[in-house]
Amino acid sequence: MPEGDAPVLILGGTGEARDLAATLVEVGVPVISSLAGRVRDPRLPQGEVRIGGFGGIAGLAQWLATHQVRAVVDATHPFAAVITANAVEACALAGVQLLRLRRDPWVPGAADRWVRVPDIDTAATEVDGRGRRVLLTTGRQDADAFAGIDSAWFLIRVVDPPTGKLPAHHEILRSRGPYRLEDELELMRSRAIDLLVTKNSGGELTRAKLRAAALLDVPVVMVDRPTEPPVPTAATASAAADWVAGLR
Ligand code: NAP
Repeated sequence: MPEGDAPVLILGGTGEARDLAATLVEVGVPVISSLAGRVRDPRLPQGEVRIGGFGGIAGLAQWLATHQVRAVVDATHPFAAVITANAVEACALAGVQLLRLRRDPWVPGAADRWVRVPDIDTAATEVDGRGRRVLLTTGRQDADAFAGIDSAWFLIRVVDPPTGKLPAHHEILRSRGPYRLEDELELMRSRAIDLLVTKNSGGELTRAKLRAAALLDVPVVMVDRPTEPPVPTAATASAAADWVAGLR
């Protein structure tokens, strides 16, 4: 396969991944976007898409070789730590260049009342005894970390319903961002929320909840991002597109 026709693999599942796919398709760069297949009705990027795991590091390395991939952009969510680590190892094995596209984290302002925690289990420890009416936005896969907490009521906001154990007192709210400040204020007021629990995903699409919490003087348990392997990074889709354009 001639080098210019070799595809760029985008590991996706984020808005940035979709933005990058759209930009590359627009300028005629062959792209294959990969989704894990967790969401029932995913927002699909432009261009070719494949869905499902690769089968660990060896499976991904094999896939890169079989498809003669030119470069990989890992644009997965900042908390998708397994696939990010696998991409580093698999690209090294296959001799393929790798860029990590990762949006910047949120940083607290003067009005924010954040309790920063290193992981989801510590977030659950913080909630037990601190909040009585909790807005939980850590996602479907992390809701079970709060299952043992009977001392609080949880409004669990998810795209698809959680399948694991859940806390005794809860309501499931199915929705998908982006969210507007006025709606977040209304939600938190109407449910008398007194604690917000979120991962530090960063980005604009879900930032309004933090502003709403600050305006309502609601504290936030903020789960810090996992540490990532040191690879070249870009913070925006356009910076990643520039990196692809500079590949030789
Ligand atoms: P993870 O724990 O890092 O990865 C677990 C396994 O899922 C990987 O080993 C891989 O399976 C498969 N996988 C993950 N992302 C993949 C992708 N883009 N394409 C193909 N296979 C993928 O992942 P996760 O945290 O469950 O996240 C799954 C997906 O949801 C990611 O694409 C991520 O961008 C998106 N997402 C995650 C979060 C979050 O909070 N974690 C939030 C929003 C969106 P194999 O080992 O079989 O290859």
